[in-house]
Amino acid sequence: MPEKHLQPTPLRKYCRLSEEMGVSIWVKHDDLFPEAGGGNKVRKLGHILADGLRQGCDAMVTTGSACSNHVRASALMAANLGWRAKIIIHDAPQTRLGENLLLADLAGAEIAFCERGEVARRMDEAMAELSREGRRPLYVWGGGHCLAGAKAYFEAAGELADQAQQSGCRFDYVCVASGTGTTQAGLHVGFSRFADGPKVLGFSVAHDKARGSEKVISSADELAKSLGIRSRSAGVNFDDSFLCGGYARADKNVCETIRWAARTDGLVLDPIYSGKAFAALRSQVRSGLVPQDSQICFWHTGGLLNLVSGDWPPLQKRPIS
Ligand SMILES: *Cc1c(COP(=O)(O)O)cnc(C)c1O
Repeated sequence: MPEKHLQPTPLRKYCRLSEEMGVSIWVKHDDLFPEAGGGNKVRKLGHILADGLRQGCDAMVTTGSACSNHVRASALMAANLGWRAKIIIHDAPQTRLGENLLLADLAGAEIAFCERGEVARRMDEAMAELSREGRRPLYVWGGGHCLAGAKAYFEAAGELADQAQQSGCRFDYVCVASGTGTTQAGLHVGFSRFADGPKVLGFSVAHDKARGSEKVISSADELAKSLGIRSRSAGVNFDDSFLCGGYARADKNVCETIRWAARTDGLVLDPIYSGKAFAALRSQVRSGLVPQDSQICFWHTGGLLNLVSGDWPPLQKRPIS
Protein backbone atom coordinates (compact mmCIF):
# COMPACT_ATOMS: atom_id res chain seq x y z
CA MET A 1 0.00 0.00 0.00
CA PRO A 2 1.51 3.37 -0.97
CA GLU A 3 0.53 5.03 2.33
CA LYS A 4 2.75 2.57 4.24
CA HIS A 5 5.77 3.75 2.26
CA LEU A 6 5.45 7.30 3.49
CA GLN A 7 7.97 7.90 6.23
CA PRO A 8 7.63 10.98 8.45
CA THR A 9 9.11 14.02 6.71
CA PRO A 10 11.82 16.04 8.47
CA LEU A 11 11.04 18.84 10.93
CA ARG A 12 13.87 21.38 11.05
CA LYS A 13 14.45 24.62 12.87
CA TYR A 14 15.79 27.54 10.81
CA CYS A 15 17.81 29.58 13.29
CA ARG A 16 18.79 32.46 11.02
CA LEU A 17 15.25 33.03 9.76
CA SER A 18 14.07 32.83 13.38
CA GLU A 19 16.56 35.42 14.50
CA GLU A 20 15.74 37.81 11.66
CA MET A 21 11.99 37.50 12.14
CA GLY A 22 11.90 37.51 15.95
CA VAL A 23 9.86 34.29 16.09
CA SER A 24 10.87 30.62 16.09
CA ILE A 25 10.61 29.21 12.57
CA TRP A 26 10.47 25.46 12.13
CA VAL A 27 9.77 23.90 8.76
CA LYS A 28 7.88 20.65 8.24
CA HIS A 29 9.46 19.42 5.05
CA ASP A 30 6.74 17.72 3.00
CA ASP A 31 8.71 18.99 0.01
CA LEU A 32 11.23 16.25 0.85
CA PHE A 33 9.30 13.01 0.41
CA PRO A 34 11.53 10.56 -1.43
CA GLU A 35 8.64 9.66 -3.77
CA ALA A 36 7.59 11.36 -6.99
CA GLY A 37 9.34 14.68 -6.49
CA GLY A 38 7.76 15.33 -3.10
CA GLY A 39 5.20 17.84 -1.90
CA ASN A 40 1.79 17.63 -0.29
CA LYS A 41 0.35 15.85 -3.36
CA VAL A 42 2.54 12.84 -2.58
CA ARG A 43 1.10 12.61 0.93
CA LYS A 44 -2.46 12.96 -0.38
CA LEU A 45 -1.95 10.50 -3.24
CA GLY A 46 -0.42 7.98 -0.84
CA HIS A 47 -3.87 7.70 0.76
CA ILE A 48 -5.90 8.17 -2.41
CA LEU A 49 -4.07 5.44 -4.36
CA ALA A 50 -4.13 3.09 -1.37
CA ASP A 51 -7.95 3.42 -1.44
CA GLY A 52 -7.80 2.65 -5.16
CA LEU A 53 -5.70 -0.47 -4.59
CA ARG A 54 -8.23 -1.70 -2.05
CA GLN A 55 -10.92 -1.29 -4.73
CA GLY A 56 -8.80 -3.28 -7.20
CA CYS A 57 -7.97 -0.30 -9.44
CA ASP A 58 -5.14 -0.48 -11.98
CA ALA A 59 -5.46 2.93 -13.70
CA MET A 60 -6.32 6.52 -12.88
CA VAL A 61 -7.81 9.62 -14.45
CA THR A 62 -7.08 13.06 -13.07
CA THR A 63 -6.74 16.72 -14.03
CA GLY A 64 -4.75 19.87 -13.36
CA SER A 65 -3.15 22.95 -14.83
CA ALA A 66 0.01 22.87 -16.95
CA CYS A 67 2.16 23.62 -13.88
CA SER A 68 0.34 21.22 -11.54
CA ASN A 69 2.39 19.39 -8.93
CA HIS A 70 -0.54 17.00 -8.50
CA VAL A 71 -0.29 15.95 -12.15
CA ARG A 72 3.43 15.18 -11.86
CA ALA A 73 3.02 13.24 -8.59
CA SER A 74 0.03 11.31 -10.00
CA ALA A 75 1.90 10.25 -13.13
CA LEU A 76 5.01 9.12 -11.26
CA MET A 77 3.11 7.30 -8.50
CA ALA A 78 0.89 5.60 -11.09
CA ALA A 79 4.01 4.42 -12.94
CA ASN A 80 5.39 3.10 -9.67
CA LEU A 81 2.26 1.00 -9.20
CA GLY A 82 2.22 -0.15 -12.82
CA TRP A 83 -1.03 1.76 -13.42
CA ARG A 84 -2.12 3.55 -16.59
CA ALA A 85 -2.73 7.27 -16.10
CA LYS A 86 -4.82 9.61 -18.25
CA ILE A 87 -4.45 13.26 -17.40
CA ILE A 88 -6.60 16.13 -18.65
CA ILE A 89 -4.82 19.49 -18.58
CA HIS A 90 -7.10 22.55 -18.49
CA ASP A 91 -4.67 24.83 -20.28
CA ALA A 92 -3.68 25.63 -23.84
CA PRO A 93 -1.42 22.94 -25.37
CA GLN A 94 2.13 23.74 -24.32
CA THR A 95 4.88 24.23 -26.85
CA ARG A 96 7.55 23.97 -24.19
CA LEU A 97 6.70 21.64 -21.32
CA GLY A 98 7.30 22.89 -17.79
CA GLU A 99 9.13 20.55 -15.43
CA ASN A 100 5.99 19.04 -13.90
CA LEU A 101 4.35 18.25 -17.22
CA LEU A 102 7.60 17.00 -18.65
CA LEU A 103 7.94 14.53 -15.77
CA ALA A 104 4.33 13.41 -16.23
CA ASP A 105 5.08 12.76 -19.89
CA LEU A 106 8.33 10.93 -19.10
CA ALA A 107 6.38 8.77 -16.63
CA GLY A 108 4.19 7.62 -19.51
CA ALA A 109 0.95 9.38 -18.58
CA GLU A 110 -1.40 10.05 -21.50
CA ILE A 111 -1.83 13.81 -21.51
CA ALA A 112 -4.63 15.74 -23.24
CA PHE A 113 -5.41 19.46 -23.19
CA CYS A 114 -8.84 21.10 -23.08
CA GLU A 115 -10.79 24.18 -22.01
CA ARG A 116 -11.68 24.40 -18.34
CA GLY A 117 -15.38 23.90 -19.06
CA GLU A 118 -14.65 20.62 -20.86
CA VAL A 119 -12.77 18.93 -18.01
CA ALA A 120 -15.65 16.94 -16.50
CA ARG A 121 -16.72 15.53 -19.87
CA ARG A 122 -13.17 14.67 -20.90
CA MET A 123 -12.47 12.94 -17.58
CA ASP A 124 -15.67 10.89 -17.97
CA GLU A 125 -14.59 9.90 -21.48
CA ALA A 126 -11.13 8.89 -20.25
CA MET A 127 -12.76 6.74 -17.53
CA ALA A 128 -14.97 5.07 -20.14
CA GLU A 129 -12.04 4.43 -22.50
CA LEU A 130 -10.01 2.75 -19.77
CA SER A 131 -12.98 0.61 -18.73
CA ARG A 132 -13.52 -0.48 -22.33
CA GLU A 133 -9.87 -1.58 -22.40
CA GLY A 134 -10.57 -3.83 -19.41
CA ARG A 135 -8.99 -1.55 -16.81
CA ARG A 136 -10.42 -0.47 -13.45
CA PRO A 137 -9.73 3.27 -13.37
CA LEU A 138 -9.78 5.44 -10.24
CA TYR A 139 -11.25 8.93 -10.64
CA VAL A 140 -9.07 11.46 -8.81
CA TRP A 141 -10.20 15.07 -8.46
CA GLY A 142 -7.80 17.83 -9.44
CA GLY A 143 -5.33 18.59 -6.66
CA GLY A 144 -6.30 15.37 -4.90
CA HIS A 145 -9.19 17.28 -3.38
CA CYS A 146 -11.18 14.53 -1.64
CA LEU A 147 -11.78 12.87 1.70
CA ALA A 148 -8.75 10.56 1.44
CA GLY A 149 -6.54 13.63 0.78
CA ALA A 150 -7.91 15.40 3.87
CA LYS A 151 -7.39 12.24 5.94
CA ALA A 152 -3.75 12.18 4.89
CA TYR A 153 -3.30 15.60 6.50
CA PHE A 154 -5.40 14.70 9.51
CA GLU A 155 -2.83 11.96 10.17
CA ALA A 156 0.03 14.30 9.32
CA ALA A 157 -1.06 16.55 12.22
CA GLY A 158 -0.39 13.60 14.54
CA GLU A 159 2.99 13.06 12.89
CA LEU A 160 3.97 16.67 13.62
CA ALA A 161 2.65 16.48 17.18
CA ASP A 162 4.92 13.46 17.82
CA GLN A 163 7.94 15.20 16.30
CA ALA A 164 7.25 18.39 18.26
CA GLN A 165 7.13 16.40 21.46
CA GLN A 166 10.43 14.70 20.64
CA SER A 167 12.02 18.07 19.87
CA GLY A 168 10.60 19.57 23.05
CA CYS A 169 8.66 22.34 21.33
CA ARG A 170 5.05 23.43 21.40
CA PHE A 171 3.78 25.31 18.36
CA ASP A 172 1.50 28.34 18.56
CA TYR A 173 0.89 28.39 14.79
CA VAL A 174 1.03 26.04 11.83
CA CYS A 175 1.15 27.98 8.54
CA VAL A 176 0.35 26.46 5.17
CA ALA A 177 -0.31 27.42 1.55
CA SER A 178 -3.98 26.72 0.82
CA GLY A 179 -5.34 25.92 -2.65
CA THR A 180 -8.15 23.37 -2.84
CA GLY A 181 -8.18 23.56 0.96
CA THR A 182 -7.78 19.81 1.61
CA THR A 183 -4.39 20.16 3.27
CA GLN A 184 -5.55 22.96 5.55
CA ALA A 185 -8.79 21.12 6.38
CA GLY A 186 -6.92 17.95 7.37
CA LEU A 187 -4.48 19.89 9.54
CA HIS A 188 -7.25 21.99 11.06
CA VAL A 189 -9.29 18.99 12.14
CA GLY A 190 -6.12 17.10 13.08
CA PHE A 191 -4.85 19.75 15.48
CA SER A 192 -8.30 20.50 16.91
CA ARG A 193 -8.01 17.13 18.68
CA PHE A 194 -5.37 18.56 20.98
CA ALA A 195 -6.46 20.70 23.94
CA ASP A 196 -3.97 23.50 23.26
CA GLY A 197 -2.99 22.59 19.72
CA PRO A 198 -1.55 25.18 17.32
CA LYS A 199 -3.75 27.56 15.37
CA VAL A 200 -3.68 26.63 11.67
CA LEU A 201 -3.25 29.66 9.37
CA GLY A 202 -4.05 29.00 5.72
CA PHE A 203 -2.70 31.48 3.16
CA SER A 204 -4.59 31.45 -0.11
CA VAL A 205 -2.76 30.71 -3.35
CA ALA A 206 -5.84 30.52 -5.59
CA HIS A 207 -9.20 31.68 -4.21
CA ASP A 208 -10.70 34.72 -2.54
CA LYS A 209 -11.70 34.47 1.09
CA ALA A 210 -15.36 33.62 0.53
CA ARG A 211 -14.73 30.76 -1.91
CA GLY A 212 -11.50 29.52 -0.33
CA SER A 213 -12.74 29.36 3.24
CA GLU A 214 -15.95 27.69 2.09
CA LYS A 215 -13.84 24.94 0.50
CA VAL A 216 -11.77 24.44 3.66
CA ILE A 217 -14.88 24.39 5.84
CA SER A 218 -16.80 21.89 3.70
CA SER A 219 -13.76 19.65 3.47
CA ALA A 220 -13.23 19.86 7.27
CA ASP A 221 -16.91 19.08 7.88
CA GLU A 222 -16.81 16.06 5.57
CA LEU A 223 -13.66 14.80 7.31
CA ALA A 224 -15.07 15.29 10.83
CA LYS A 225 -18.25 13.47 9.83
CA SER A 226 -16.35 10.49 8.41
CA LEU A 227 -14.25 10.28 11.59
CA GLY A 228 -17.36 10.54 13.74
CA ILE A 229 -16.13 13.63 15.57
CA ARG A 230 -17.83 16.94 16.19
CA SER A 231 -17.10 19.54 13.52
CA ARG A 232 -14.76 22.30 14.60
CA SER A 233 -14.70 24.10 11.27
CA ALA A 234 -15.91 27.33 12.93
CA GLY A 235 -12.36 28.44 13.73
CA VAL A 236 -10.92 28.10 10.22
CA ASN A 237 -8.36 30.87 9.47
CA PHE A 238 -8.14 31.50 5.75
CA ASP A 239 -6.34 34.64 4.62
CA ASP A 240 -6.47 35.86 1.01
CA SER A 241 -4.66 39.18 1.52
CA PHE A 242 -1.51 37.86 -0.17
CA LEU A 243 -3.17 36.30 -3.22
CA CYS A 244 -1.42 38.71 -5.66
CA GLY A 245 -4.44 38.63 -7.97
CA GLY A 246 -4.86 34.86 -8.32
CA TYR A 247 -3.34 31.44 -8.93
CA ALA A 248 0.21 31.40 -10.29
CA ARG A 249 0.57 35.17 -9.89
CA ALA A 250 3.31 36.52 -7.69
CA ASP A 251 4.43 40.04 -6.84
CA LYS A 252 7.75 41.65 -5.93
CA ASN A 253 7.21 40.88 -2.26
CA VAL A 254 6.94 37.14 -2.98
CA CYS A 255 10.07 37.10 -5.15
CA GLU A 256 11.97 39.16 -2.59
CA THR A 257 10.92 36.76 0.19
CA ILE A 258 12.08 33.75 -1.85
CA ARG A 259 15.47 35.37 -2.38
CA TRP A 260 15.69 36.43 1.26
CA ALA A 261 14.84 32.95 2.61
CA ALA A 262 17.37 31.28 0.32
CA ARG A 263 20.10 33.77 1.15
CA THR A 264 19.42 34.03 4.87
CA ASP A 265 19.10 30.37 5.72
CA GLY A 266 19.18 28.20 2.57
CA LEU A 267 15.41 27.63 2.62
CA VAL A 268 13.98 27.00 -0.88
CA LEU A 269 10.49 28.32 -1.66
CA ASP A 270 8.55 28.74 -4.93
CA PRO A 271 6.48 31.61 -6.37
CA ILE A 272 3.16 29.73 -6.79
CA TYR A 273 2.70 28.13 -3.35
CA SER A 274 5.25 28.08 -0.55
CA GLY A 275 6.83 31.46 -1.38
CA LYS A 276 3.44 33.16 -1.36
CA ALA A 277 2.56 31.59 1.97
CA PHE A 278 5.91 32.43 3.50
CA ALA A 279 5.67 36.05 2.30
CA ALA A 280 2.25 36.21 3.94
CA LEU A 281 3.60 34.83 7.20
CA ARG A 282 6.49 37.28 7.14
CA SER A 283 4.10 40.21 6.69
CA GLN A 284 1.90 39.03 9.53
CA VAL A 285 4.88 38.78 11.84
CA ARG A 286 5.99 42.27 10.79
CA SER A 287 2.54 43.73 11.42
CA GLY A 288 2.27 42.00 14.80
CA LEU A 289 -0.78 39.92 13.85
CA VAL A 290 1.46 36.96 14.61
CA PRO A 291 3.17 38.10 17.84
CA GLN A 292 6.93 38.20 18.40
CA ASP A 293 8.43 35.09 20.06
CA SER A 294 5.68 32.85 18.64
CA GLN A 295 6.63 29.24 17.93
CA ILE A 296 5.76 28.69 14.27
CA CYS A 297 5.75 25.60 12.10
CA PHE A 298 5.73 26.49 8.40
CA TRP A 299 4.36 23.44 6.59
CA HIS A 300 6.39 23.25 3.38
CA THR A 301 4.09 21.78 0.74
CA GLY A 302 6.70 21.57 -2.03
CA GLY A 303 6.75 23.16 -5.47
CA LEU A 304 10.44 23.58 -6.23
CA LEU A 305 9.79 22.58 -9.85
CA ASN A 306 7.80 25.80 -10.29
CA LEU A 307 10.64 28.00 -9.13
CA VAL A 308 11.62 29.08 -12.62
CA SER A 309 8.09 30.32 -13.33
CA GLY A 310 8.86 33.36 -11.15
CA ASP A 311 9.67 36.72 -12.65
CA TRP A 312 13.44 36.68 -12.05
CA PRO A 313 15.75 39.37 -13.35
CA PRO A 314 18.73 38.14 -15.37
CA LEU A 315 21.91 37.61 -13.38
CA GLN A 316 23.84 40.89 -13.49
CA LYS A 317 27.53 40.96 -14.15
CA ARG A 318 28.92 41.79 -10.78
CA PRO A 319 32.13 43.76 -10.41
CA ILE A 320 34.90 41.70 -8.86
CA SER A 321 35.81 43.36 -5.60
C1 LIG B 1 -1.43 21.78 -4.30
C2 LIG B 1 -0.44 22.52 -3.52
C3 LIG B 1 -0.81 23.30 -2.40
C4 LIG B 1 -2.24 23.47 -1.97
O1 LIG B 1 -2.75 22.31 -1.35
P1 LIG B 1 -4.32 22.14 -1.19
O2 LIG B 1 -4.50 20.90 -0.43
O3 LIG B 1 -4.87 22.06 -2.59
O4 LIG B 1 -4.84 23.34 -0.50
C5 LIG B 1 0.18 23.95 -1.70
N1 LIG B 1 1.47 23.86 -2.07
C6 LIG B 1 1.87 23.14 -3.12
C7 LIG B 1 3.32 23.12 -3.47
C8 LIG B 1 0.93 22.44 -3.88
O5 LIG B 1 1.34 21.73 -4.95
